[in-house]
Amino acid sequence: MRDLLPAAEGSQDLTVMFGGTFDPVHTGHVTAVKNILKTVPDIRRFIIMPAFVNPFKVHSTQRASAEQRLEMCRIAYAGLEKCVISDMEIKTGGVSYTINTLERIRAQYPYDRLAIALGGDTLKDMPTWYRSQDIIDMCSIFAVRRVRRSRINEYADNIRAMGGTVNIIDCDPFEISSTELRKRFSEGRDVSGYIPPEVVEYIRENNIYG
Ligand code: ATP
Repeated sequence: MRDLLPAAEGSQDLTVMFGGTFDPVHTGHVTAVKNILKTVPDIRRFIIMPAFVNPFKVHSTQRASAEQRLEMCRIAYAGLEKCVISDMEIKTGGVSYTINTLERIRAQYPYDRLAIALGGDTLKDMPTWYRSQDIIDMCSIFAVRRVRRSRINEYADNIRAMGGTVNIIDCDPFEISSTELRKRFSEGRDVSGYIPPEVVEYIRENNIYG
């Protein structure tokens, strides 16, 4: 795994974190990162952060192991400039709260501006997160639409009312979810076009989704 790049003292680089379960990682995840990178040239590093346990999915069963989700991310984002895959949450274990991870990233890059990247559905839920106000005070937000008819502006306004900075990335949504893909795998249906081919190969080799 590539280590996180060292921060220069006094830098005002922009470090963005993109967290998720990635069970499996799909083209929607990759396209979201590509679109943000294209729109925001002063990003220094994009940290892809697979959760050990997502606080909202404590009772749901993940199908791939933490190591497999990490490896799928490594494969999917390989070669994408500025992207680093972090095992911080997976190594830490337990429930992965975003504020804890951000505080550790802040300690690692004390001079950087921080941001998080997320999809519209996650933006909607953000005010309910553990210590959401602290997250909003600490970093800005890049949000991408997941579906065409999205109420993303309304969700962004909710965060702005809490004093947050939200940038909605103007790009076409890539409409797919990991849930839909797990279903397709279990039914033996086609997933091509929705998951990078190298990731599909890894999934089949390791017989992850049946
Ligand atoms: P599941 O269906 O299992 O809930 P998911 O497809 O929503 O999974 P996650 O790993 O939970 O994927 O999502 C991680 C982050 O990626 C979240 O911020 C989510 O909003 C965003 N995201 C997921 N799918 C897309 C997509 N198609 N386009 C843009 N962002 C997405």
